[in-house]
Amino acid sequence: MPLTGRCHCGRNVFEIEGGPPPALTRCTCSLCSKRGHLLAYYAPEAFRVVQADSDAVYRWNSKRVAHHFCSACGCDLYADSPVFQPGGAWDGVTRRIAVNARLLDDFEAADWPVTVIDGKHLW
Ligand SMILES: [Zn+2]
Repeated sequence: MPLTGRCHCGRNVFEIEGGPPPALTRCTCSLCSKRGHLLAYYAPEAFRVVQADSDAVYRWNSKRVAHHFCSACGCDLYADSPVFQPGGAWDGVTRRIAVNARLLDDFEAADWPVTVIDGKHLW
């Protein structure tokens, strides 16, 4: 059984091969801190969009990260991002999916271990 997640209104649904990561990530950057994200990172191959109605994308700063959100109910869905090295370099190929763990079905993100990354000072 893949892990599944959906936005509040149900127009956007995704599934993940594999379980929750050992720890979620809380990033302190200007966007994540305002949105209150707890992120679960996956390789793109492990992530599949099942339904994408009212899927909108927000980009800022480098514009290289596609922050998907539901334009109907407003939930943040996931971010499709380059895997940046410390300092901001990217190999131009490797990507990852940062899932909003609060959308996962039968999973309480607030009760899961959390690692903090200092996005406020990294990018
Ligand atoms: Zn929605």
